Amino acid sequence: MILIKEIQFIKADGGKYLLLNLINGAADLISPQIYRQLSENRLADLEAAVVETMKKRRYLFENESEYQDFLQKLDAKLEGLEKSSVPSFLIIPSYSCNLKCTYCYERAYDIQHSPFQGRKDSIDRQFEVIAKIIGEIPPGGKTAFGNKDVKITIMGGEPLLPGNRMLIGYILNKIAAEGYRANIVTNGVDISAFIPELNKEVVEHIQITLDGPRKIHDRRRIFGNGAGSFDLILANIEKALEMGIKIYLRVNVDKENIDSLPELAGLITGHFKSAPNLHPYLYLMQDGGCSGEQNVLEESVGIETIFALEKKFPQMAVFQKKYHPAGFIEAIFSNQPFQPSLRHCGAARNQYILDYKGNIYKCWHGVGNPDFSVGQFEPGLEFNEKKDQWLNRSITSLEKCSACKYRYICGTGCPAARHGGSAMSDLDRPNCVDYGKLIDILVREHLKQG
Ligand code: SF4
Ligand code: SF4
Repeated sequence: MILIKEIQFIKADGGKYLLLNLINGAADLISPQIYRQLSENRLADLEAAVVETMKKRRYLFENESEYQDFLQKLDAKLEGLEKSSVPSFLIIPSYSCNLKCTYCYERAYDIQHSPFQGRKDSIDRQFEVIAKIIGEIPPGGKTAFGNKDVKITIMGGEPLLPGNRMLIGYILNKIAAEGYRANIVTNGVDISAFIPELNKEVVEHIQITLDGPRKIHDRRRIFGNGAGSFDLILANIEKALEMGIKIYLRVNVDKENIDSLPELAGLITGHFKSAPNLHPYLYLMQDGGCSGEQNVLEESVGIETIFALEKKFPQMAVFQKKYHPAGFIEAIFSNQPFQPSLRHCGAARNQYILDYKGNIYKCWHGVGNPDFSVGQFEPGLEFNEKKDQWLNRSITSLEKCSACKYRYICGTGCPAARHGGSAMSDLDRPNCVDYGKLIDILVREHLKQG
């Protein structure tokens, strides 16, 4: 009999252990005796009923070849699903921005941009390319998708600049005409000028960033003259909520603002009461953009600090958290199936980013950076070799990942994180996160909370 290597033990109360299956998200509380039998590989000592359950839950296989066969079939199935996954697109109508945030990753490399000139013909081209890419996705997903499943995110620079208003209306009308759905990533400074556009049925949500209470936010998300944007953004969020627009409120968390989160949570709950359309969430920054890495928190330190703040300040419950193994942890504690993956993110699947200059990218962090470009659609549609390098970046193609027990949770790591704003990381290099430690912290905390 063979015990899979994709497992982790977490010490629980009463000498028991939680046994985790890192492939399918199964979690089982086991006795100290079973723990010893498994960790000492004394599988013959396991009781018959335990063996039966462990085989059903895919911890045990009859022999090595049955185990390898299971993994090969799983990889082949996931490969088919990921190659034929629903595509998503980002379109960039301009790289101009009305803010000069201290950590902007787009400013970390110098995007050469001409002032926006309202080129509807370029938008028409973007939509032709989107339709072509959708048409070329191989069949084979578990469900066929329709245009209503395809999300188009509009981002920049800052897409909602008053000078872009006609163009944003034009883009949203095109999205509606094709039956796609729209999301918008905006800094929130000029939303009030766009309320009629944002209130359209086709817009699912907008994402706005608020980085802390006024004194902190206004140090980071500033105008060119150094003035802060906090009051303007808060007023605009209020207007958008009044109009029924769904908002994901992102807080970029690092050393500079982590201690001010309780104050921000109190402000959000006090100011917006229980607004069902407002979804604040914390994102632990992986990359300091043009301000360098000195403020970036190690993720485990960030998670533990946030847990400590949550214990002291109940209003912190207003924030959702986006930690690395969040999907895996949620699956365990909400008893939902875990979806293993071969790839880290949409950039290695069917995500494409089209900018107004005719460039195509796969990764959000690389927009405007020639090193990240995977092709162009002006004058004609042409991809370079990087497109396939992105698509082939999977745990089956990187040697270190193929032997890693966390591979189905991690999917090779993000090749763009901590790129320091210059050249892109090597697409053939794994970017490890300490999943063992993060899972241990998160599971223990969930167990404590009961
Ligand atoms: S590669 Fe990294 S930065 Fe780029 S889209 Fe994926 S997760 Fe985001
Ligand atoms: S990037 Fe590192 S942690 Fe992730 S699967 Fe590869 S080897 Fe494992």
